[in-house]
Amino acid sequence: MNITIEENKNPSQKPTGALGFGKIFTDHMFVMDYDPQNGWHDARIVPFGNISIHPASTVLHYGAEIFEGLKAYRREDGKVQMFRPMENVRRMNNSAERLCLPQIDENDALEILTAFVRHEQDWTPSEPGTTLYIRPFMFGNDETLGVHSVKKATFMIIASPAGSYYQNGFQPVKIMIEDTDVRAVRGGTGYAKCGGNYAASTRAGERAEQMGYSQVLWLDGVERKYIEEVGAMNVMFKIGDEIVTPKLTGSILPGITRKSCVELLKSEGYKVSERLLSIDELHDALVNNKLEEAWGCGTAAVVSPIGELNYKGVKYPINNGEIGKVTQHLYDRLTAIQWGKAEDTFGWTYQL
Ligand SMILES: *Cc1c(COP(=O)(O)O)cnc(C)c1O
Repeated sequence: MNITIEENKNPSQKPTGALGFGKIFTDHMFVMDYDPQNGWHDARIVPFGNISIHPASTVLHYGAEIFEGLKAYRREDGKVQMFRPMENVRRMNNSAERLCLPQIDENDALEILTAFVRHEQDWTPSEPGTTLYIRPFMFGNDETLGVHSVKKATFMIIASPAGSYYQNGFQPVKIMIEDTDVRAVRGGTGYAKCGGNYAASTRAGERAEQMGYSQVLWLDGVERKYIEEVGAMNVMFKIGDEIVTPKLTGSILPGITRKSCVELLKSEGYKVSERLLSIDELHDALVNNKLEEAWGCGTAAVVSPIGELNYKGVKYPINNGEIGKVTQHLYDRLTAIQWGKAEDTFGWTYQL
């Protein structure tokens, strides 16, 4: 890959106070263009700033946009590492295929990601729980209102130093089971990480928040019966001695944290099932005190304990609203590997 670099001549001060999430950006961004004649070309690291696109650009009208989210972690020895970046690269190509956006050779994509993050790595904060959040994204950029698969596309990466997700401590959240809106349907774009899925799921999340809940638990779009995800995270339950997570039927986003939780728990001898889980089965488990733990999992939170579910106006506490043992264990193991505090026997970390 030939990546040109234009250095930012007015670099910003590195932030010192609270970082929050997605508010501060590093001094550079990666940009690369696609058209059918030239393929991907003009790979460049340039100063961070506004971009200019045509008012008829496909992304603005027909939502041709996909993205990824991953983090760089500063280890105690000062080095910076990523977590399973090739998984993000592969998922991005799967998302691109679904939205008729062009593929990027996976080795090229990993090389680009590594080159960009290495260039920006000084922005990786070192306070406990903080990370450099990395956001690759691609959009259709044809300058026409005609509706067909895009010809021109743009791929970019931006990066943002991010505060700890658990600013106020690692605490269980309350979740509302959503029985009106759906996030995705089989045959749709549920398995693709695309902006449109987020646009369509914001309303339910906002409504839940107004009622004092952090997020919603999504049911499948056909029968409103099977558990799918929680907000923009995958979800897992401990029912008796079985750990259950909904199987990937096409409407569920294949999370890398989900995959890592499954692999980690299986390696430790837990019984883990990826299967259909109906709301009736979950309800039975709740009323019979079989539902011991529930948690969401995703890159942002790693693991998010669920302390209460609200279903049709009835509140069901889980584990007395406290963090469960497996939940805590998963959080501790994953974060130790991600920050390089524990030996990575899985080969998940990728040092810059
Ligand atoms: C990104 C995302 C997840 C979590 O995936 P990770 O790879 O673990 O970060 C889960 N659900 C949705 C809808 C997502 O967009």
